[in-house]
Amino acid sequence: MTIFQKIIDREIPADIVFEDDRVLAFRDIEPQAPVHVLVIPKKPLASVASASAEDRDLLGHLLLVAQHVATREGVADGGFRIVTNIGQDGGQAVEHLHLHVLGGRAMSWPPG
Ligand code: AMP
Repeated sequence: MTIFQKIIDREIPADIVFEDDRVLAFRDIEPQAPVHVLVIPKKPLASVASASAEDRDLLGHLLLVAQHVATREGVADGGFRIVTNIGQDGGQAVEHLHLHVLGGRAMSWPPG
């Protein structure tokens, strides 16, 4: 079981900023920007690479929740970044699909 499943199950605490029946959003424990929120599906998908056509609506919903979180956190107007890391080379540490919503500072490109 991943640490994010434990957060969904309320076995460990998190600073939750949004929740509905399909999605949970909470603050990253090691924030990389003034706003750093993780948006995760309650369905235990390992990453975007594990998603299928039946997850189409859920994936769209995750993006809209990320947009909603950015607006509520006050970073939508200035610009923000949505990142999802996939697998070893993608830098994924937790094998439960998550969108990083980062904002509140200027971002550089390309990523390291
Ligand atoms: P990734 O490398 O894309 O898998 O990102 C995993 C993220 O989860 C990292 O940014 C961690 O700081 C974050 N993280 C790990 N454990 C927790 C936790 N208990 N609560 C909140 N964020 C966490």
